[in-house]
Amino acid sequence: MLITIEEIFDEFEELDPRDQSQFLLELGYDLPRFAPEEQRESDLVHGCQSQVWLTARAADNDSNPVIELRADSDAEVVRGLITVLLASYSGKTASEILRLSIGDVFARLRLNQYISPQRQNGLQGMVDRIREIARRHAPCAAYTDPSPVQVPLRPTAVLLTAAEFDPLDVRRQFPVLNQTLDDGLTPVFLDSGASAQKPQVVIDKEREVEEQYYANAYRGRYRFGARIDEELENARQKIATFISAESPQQIAFTSGATATINAVAFGWGRSHVGEGDEILITEMEHHANFVPWQQLALQQKATLRFIPMTVDGRLDLNRLDEVLTKKTKVLAVCGMSNVLGTVNPVRELAARAHAVGAIIVVDGAQSVPHQVTDVVSDDVDFLIFSGHKLYGPTGVGILYGKTGRLAETEPILFGGHMIDRVYRDHSTWAAPPARFEAGTLPIVQAIGLGAAVDWVSEIDVTWIHEHEQQLLRSATEQLQRIPGLTIFGPSVDHKGAIISFRIDDVHPEDLAIMLDRRAVLTRHGHHCAMPLHELLAVSGTTRASFAAYNTEDDVTALVSAIEYGLDELRRRR
Ligand code: PLP
Repeated sequence: MLITIEEIFDEFEELDPRDQSQFLLELGYDLPRFAPEEQRESDLVHGCQSQVWLTARAADNDSNPVIELRADSDAEVVRGLITVLLASYSGKTASEILRLSIGDVFARLRLNQYISPQRQNGLQGMVDRIREIARRHAPCAAYTDPSPVQVPLRPTAVLLTAAEFDPLDVRRQFPVLNQTLDDGLTPVFLDSGASAQKPQVVIDKEREVEEQYYANAYRGRYRFGARIDEELENARQKIATFISAESPQQIAFTSGATATINAVAFGWGRSHVGEGDEILITEMEHHANFVPWQQLALQQKATLRFIPMTVDGRLDLNRLDEVLTKKTKVLAVCGMSNVLGTVNPVRELAARAHAVGAIIVVDGAQSVPHQVTDVVSDDVDFLIFSGHKLYGPTGVGILYGKTGRLAETEPILFGGHMIDRVYRDHSTWAAPPARFEAGTLPIVQAIGLGAAVDWVSEIDVTWIHEHEQQLLRSATEQLQRIPGLTIFGPSVDHKGAIISFRIDDVHPEDLAIMLDRRAVLTRHGHHCAMPLHELLAVSGTTRASFAAYNTEDDVTALVSAIEYGLDELRRRR
């Protein structure tokens, strides 16, 4: 007679986490083992890191039979988890099995401490197999699927509440902005569009990982490995919540936006875009969301088309039907332009794309840090962004995909961690997100990004948006008063906190050097958007981009540094 689930609950409640882990192992030792001849290939459950065999017996002639389950594994700890599953499911009728929420059982046992995402996939595989058996025997009735194998997460620290938000308080949290430079100046950082600065909590989190429990992820059963896995899954959950994704399993860690767009363009595109098909993008795309689609089109003999733009730098939706047709397989668009600041109407574009059977891929590198993102309401198929523009570390990016879209996307990087089974002549892939996480992850960075998302969420992205829009309005008004200065892009109502401009007789690089003399740090050039600059008929622009830590003083500093720079440059001619 196996232990019951109530007995397991009682034992667990009495034990501290280390002893719970030992208890789980002991449960494994007590589970009856399969004889070698019972370990049949046909009874193997796929998706498990270890070997798991599962068999079921149900009375044939009953319309809702009791189902007796047996299972075994070659790993003792898995045998412990199997015991929990059998105690929950075995000896129940088919309809009782279908009604049971195993996620609640796992939540009550706080099993996240022992379950890596790969193991979670394996467990999900076992649960799916058991439910499939029950479904075959259940009376005809519609059962909603209870929550899948999901585990509770470590609570996160509260940092600031929205009511306490004050630009100066925010700025104080960024060490790099609070230093005195060699020339006695304090930096005025206006290049967050390229990469944002990090608050102390993100720096501290990265340091905590390095100093206290660093280990590789999803590999080790020792305490550092388990803690890293837990921290990573915490970060994954935070990021999912931040963009309103339905599940953390829809979030893959990558090395950045560029790598992610390539993963979608080639992982999804190669099998879904063919000769004669069309890919629709815009002329305002960063090269990261331009070149991969251009190359996919060349490889697949598809056509790359562009949504026409209005003269003020918005997408001309009145002319969208000219280019969005039944031939369009994918519409790839930025949420916000990194040059013009234009905020694109993602929800409307998604609806129009879906209406012709196309998918929408959103490059959120610029939009995600500045506005609320809701992938479900917007109905986007894929969303991509980078950690380093969201106050997080470099070297980590995010791939979000609808569950079905991720499932139909092939990996483009192959190796460790992303596999289900490797045979001598072929391999099968792990379920998403592991499928897109080949090799060692950017572990510290991904955990740091989780801390950055906490920070942004605590301040509240709506506050950040409103604050930045105020700075944008103020800067726009003041810059427009400078003779000969042209701002590119739409009016403030249609854009985010980026201003790209040019002054008639001044090269953007010369101006950027002058601004740097006043410690006003801006970017110049084509900002990785050559086709757009060709359209604007300029070789480059000067760009000031704002973030949560900028203040009205920074706007004043920018304007006065431009006036100083213009005087200096014109005086010497
Ligand atoms: N997309 C946009 C709109 C960007 O602004 C950038 C970077 O500036 C990228 C993509 C590429 O991001 P990463 O360099 O982090 O891959």
